[in-house]
Amino acid sequence: MSRKDLLLDIQDLQVSIENNIILENFNLKVKKGEIHAIMGTNGSGKSTFSKVIAGHPAYSILKGNILFNEKSILEISPEERSHLGIFLAFQYPIEIPGVSNEDFLRLSYNAKQRFFNKPELDPIQFLQIVTEKMKLVNMSPSFLNRNVNEGFSGGEKKRNEILQMILLNPDICILDETDSGLDIDALKIISKGINNFMNQDKGIILITHYQRLLDYINPKYVHVMQKGKIIKTGSLELAKELEKKGYQQLFETS
Ligand code: ADP
Ligand code: MG
Repeated sequence: MSRKDLLLDIQDLQVSIENNIILENFNLKVKKGEIHAIMGTNGSGKSTFSKVIAGHPAYSILKGNILFNEKSILEISPEERSHLGIFLAFQYPIEIPGVSNEDFLRLSYNAKQRFFNKPELDPIQFLQIVTEKMKLVNMSPSFLNRNVNEGFSGGEKKRNEILQMILLNPDICILDETDSGLDIDALKIISKGINNFMNQDKGIILITHYQRLLDYINPKYVHVMQKGKIIKTGSLELAKELEKKGYQQLFETS
């Protein structure tokens, strides 16, 4: 496989927040067409990793590099990273009172269009596109008129994140516990949305605690994080083993 197939290349990353080192010796390569799952105990640094890739300003990168399509993104703003094709679905999607979901989605969509000197869509054109995409995640058009995530149930917020992802059509997606708190039907809908979205040019990183999600979405690699780094990489078998034995037992016996 040529280097051109490498989407994301995280090299020896060391990251701190308020003088606490959270990630250390963190390495990960994601090629086009690959789905990776990241598992790990609470507080191992999974959400930190996802926010650092998206460019959250609270974190300091003390060492290492993040290459996206062979270029370092360390000096690139979160907005530009998003336009370039990096997407993060938040573990805790934020509510934005006073902003309708429809406006929010259209403004995000048009910001990306503008960045690439492409024509922006007017509200009527956009409505047509967004209602089509909403069908892919079983969302009723009534969610367009409501404020972003305000009063949405946990599952509705997660579906709204996937809708954003489908609309913005990024190349690399990090989904931070998108499956947490979903009932089985919602889990199936979200998984279907993700599987339909995935293709040979994209990469997906699924952060999850549950092997359940991996019954629907098949990752090529499963990584386990502990204390800010990946300590083990395997196949789907590793997730199954973790589910059976738990982290403690797995690492005592291995
Ligand atoms: P995970 O998503 O794997 O559960 P997080 O990335 O959310 O873990 O958190 C990793 C560690 O970073 C935790 O121990 C958390 O308490 C710590 N952390 C997060 N934010 C801060 C902060 N502002 N100051 C100090 N420690 C923090
Ligand atoms: Mg987390």
